[in-house]
Amino acid sequence: MHIHDIIRSDSPTFSFEFFPPKTPAAAESLYQTIRELEAYMPHFVSVTYGAGGSTRDLTHDLVERIQTTTKLDPIPHLTCVCHKEEEVQSILQRYAKNSIGNILALGGDPPRGLAYDRATDAFQRAADLVTFIRRFNESGEHPDPRGFGIGVAGFPEGHPATPNRLLEMDHLKAKVDAGADYIVTQLFFDNRDFYDFRERCQLAGIRVPIIAGIMPITSFSGCKRIAELAGGARFPARLLRALQRCEQEPEMVTRVGVHFALEQCHDLLDNNVAGIHFYTLNKSDATRTIFDSLGIPRRRWAEAAAT
Ligand SMILES: Cc1cc2nc3c(=O)[nH]c(=O)nc-3n(C[C@H](O)[C@H](O)[C@H](O)COP(=O)(O)OP(=O)(O)OC[C@H]3O[C@@H](n4cnc5c(N)ncnc54)[C@H](O)[C@@H]3O)c2cc1C
Repeated sequence: MHIHDIIRSDSPTFSFEFFPPKTPAAAESLYQTIRELEAYMPHFVSVTYGAGGSTRDLTHDLVERIQTTTKLDPIPHLTCVCHKEEEVQSILQRYAKNSIGNILALGGDPPRGLAYDRATDAFQRAADLVTFIRRFNESGEHPDPRGFGIGVAGFPEGHPATPNRLLEMDHLKAKVDAGADYIVTQLFFDNRDFYDFRERCQLAGIRVPIIAGIMPITSFSGCKRIAELAGGARFPARLLRALQRCEQEPEMVTRVGVHFALEQCHDLLDNNVAGIHFYTLNKSDATRTIFDSLGIPRRRWAEAAAT
């Protein structure tokens, strides 16, 4: 379903992010997670694209499997790095043929451990990819006359590559002006960063819905991984203090991390967030615990499942 229809019919939205599994065992575990989370009828689920486009086929396979074997609405991520125009064109054609409603258009992380020259990519910035998808939409190849809904990334705490925060908002505005329909944010642990970002978007004339990215911390090692993956993410002292108090008890660390994320979600809902996107890391427990405590009527899930 086009993102405009999703948001118009039922906001705030709730959505989950998965990454494509690389081994049969990881695939089995992910499909179990998907089955468990399907019962919650999220508004959509998104599927990441590995650094340097490394999971290209795995991403497509997972998106199509979700589309054909579940009631979930998958949104594939697509990145600029290491792609030629013809490749992106054929990916769009394939998704359009399979009635995929939306795409998250990203700059993309560079390939790990390989020499890489960005200048050889067909699209230098996510804004160029958005423009290309918009043109594809205008070609009428998609079964929905509006074409794909287009999402882009936003960074409440700023993107590490652009320390000039005024310029950064210009770059974000360029993506929206190129045709983006919504923004999904990088994870953050202090809601004040999100609210300030939302206000700065307003001031910059960015009017599309902004969906907040939330990742519950479930372990100390996970915390370190997040710090690495979401470069620049700020870990508030309040969170670190709470985690350190129970450092020796892994189960308690999970509870503290999940409770912290739950408090963030309640506060976001109280402050009219357009949607909450959970970075699940392909596990369902933390997300389910949070969901069960958010007070979302189960009726909604049942209604959605019945349609
Ligand atoms: C919700 C979300 C999902 C993600 N999923 C994936 C994924 O699946 N796969 C993956 O590889 N990565 C993913 N990422 C990471 C993302 O690709 C990287 O953080 C990337 O560095 C930035 O992506 P972008 O789409 O913001 O790129 P861009 O919008 O191209 O911006 C990248 C940098 O370039 C700057 N910039 C933009 N335009 C200009 C310009 N005209 N001149 C100078 N500088 C400019 C921006 O300010 C920014 O610092 C995700 C990030 C988020 C927040």
